[in-house]
Amino acid sequence: MRVHRLVVFLCLLVVALLAGSACQPEPLSLPTPIHVSATPGRDLALELPIPSREPATPLPGATPTPQPTESEPAAVQPEISYRLDAELDWLARTVAVDQQVELRNTTGVPLREVVFALDMNGSEETFRLKRVLTGAGLRLDNYTIDGTQLTVRLPQPLLPGGLLSLQLVFDLAIPQIRAGYRYGHMGYFGYSDRQVNLGNWFPLVAYYHPIRGWICPQPHTIGEQSVRPVADFDVTLRVTGAPEGLKAAAPGRVTEEVDGWRFVLPRAREFTVSVSDRFEILSTSTASGAVVELYYFPDSDRGLAAPRHALVTAAQALALFEQRFALPYVHGRLIVVEGDFPDGMEFSGLVFVSGDWFRAWLGIPNDWLTLITAHEVSHQWWYSAVGNDQGTDPYLDEALAIYSELLFFERYYPEHVNWWWNFRVGAYSPSGFVDASVYDFHSPRPYINAVYLQGARMLQALRDDLGDAAFFAWLQRYAAQMHGQVATPDDFWGALSSDEYAATFETRARFLRNVNVLARSADLP
Ligand SMILES: [Zn+2]
Repeated sequence: MRVHRLVVFLCLLVVALLAGSACQPEPLSLPTPIHVSATPGRDLALELPIPSREPATPLPGATPTPQPTESEPAAVQPEISYRLDAELDWLARTVAVDQQVELRNTTGVPLREVVFALDMNGSEETFRLKRVLTGAGLRLDNYTIDGTQLTVRLPQPLLPGGLLSLQLVFDLAIPQIRAGYRYGHMGYFGYSDRQVNLGNWFPLVAYYHPIRGWICPQPHTIGEQSVRPVADFDVTLRVTGAPEGLKAAAPGRVTEEVDGWRFVLPRAREFTVSVSDRFEILSTSTASGAVVELYYFPDSDRGLAAPRHALVTAAQALALFEQRFALPYVHGRLIVVEGDFPDGMEFSGLVFVSGDWFRAWLGIPNDWLTLITAHEVSHQWWYSAVGNDQGTDPYLDEALAIYSELLFFERYYPEHVNWWWNFRVGAYSPSGFVDASVYDFHSPRPYINAVYLQGARMLQALRDDLGDAAFFAWLQRYAAQMHGQVATPDDFWGALSSDEYAATFETRARFLRNVNVLARSADLP
């Protein structure tokens, strides 16, 4: 069966946005979609009422000097690139993968083994490794799989500066998306009757810590647990038994192949694709040149209003966060996918927003569809651009992501800021330490209350401590310093000046278990 072109412009609807100031939106009066011609390219760009990219200069009043700390040795991550040749059997819901990994040892020490994270192998046995080969075709049998960790022991150490090429050949059995929090929220690797989601679907080289070595977090039922170095991805996905009209939602540069596509995505944390024969697509672009594409499921009962609102929200959020965090979005296209699973999920260049929020949308901005869309888009900064250990330090992405929702409302719907605080935070009377790990929790609500909701309160208190100019200058310094890396609490708090760090003591004492964050690093060996 023929797979239709991914290139989306043939079926584009473009949303004409509100004229005039975005500070005075008319949320109940959504614009009429315009059918456009099939001409691809920038002529589809809209006059979005959103800010253009501003230079990454700190705001006035900020102290640009970072806090000197007793820091750990700099982690020099191996340089990693992936090339995948994958064949999805649409009817069987299986994938056969031939994965090549190139890894240059830039750690400064010999590597005797390489560890991969197998996130897809957490709650169910979905991964069957058939063989491991060197680039020269030498079969390696000295490997172990322990849940979500694959350890490949090398026949001889990979010396500093050396280049290793490995080939992993494996099959995947994609699980059916199930209801309930335990499994449902993991539907980013799963299938429904109309969607196949391939997120966290192939072995990813673990994060290399200069003291602790390879870090491959154990899976847990709460939150995310990944810690991922940046890498380059080149993925060819072919589909057998594909229905007519199959479309792939995926980030990066896309080219059509026989029965599939090739995706090239540099400098990302992973590569994720969602495939469906029922996708419809809306697209727009921001003044800074980023293209935002929304892949949604048509539903005659609700029309286009919810998809259009999600698209506009995503584009507005992207433009705002580029400006607020002074860090451009690097992947060119941002893909937003209506997911057949709860809540939402962030990946590099692609985010899922649950169909639940589309169906439940009340036609007003102060609703879950807006919150979750803006939240997931913000993870392009707080997860994808600036990485962190999502298991041990979840507040470094989730507190900043939920606070980014507030920034979105401040900018576009200031009349709903109080609603946001009451609905999103106050209604849950949250408590708990913001710097808790996911492993401290065994049900989602206390985790969200502590890390997300108290996290939002902590960031607001820090903003009150520092003032707007210094607060945003701090976030911008942190983003600029840790872009492309894996940040720690030391990096986050260390981006404050000494005076600012001292001025935030009371707030840290109120919200954190480890009040003297920066002092901790002095205790490390
Ligand atoms: Zn989040």
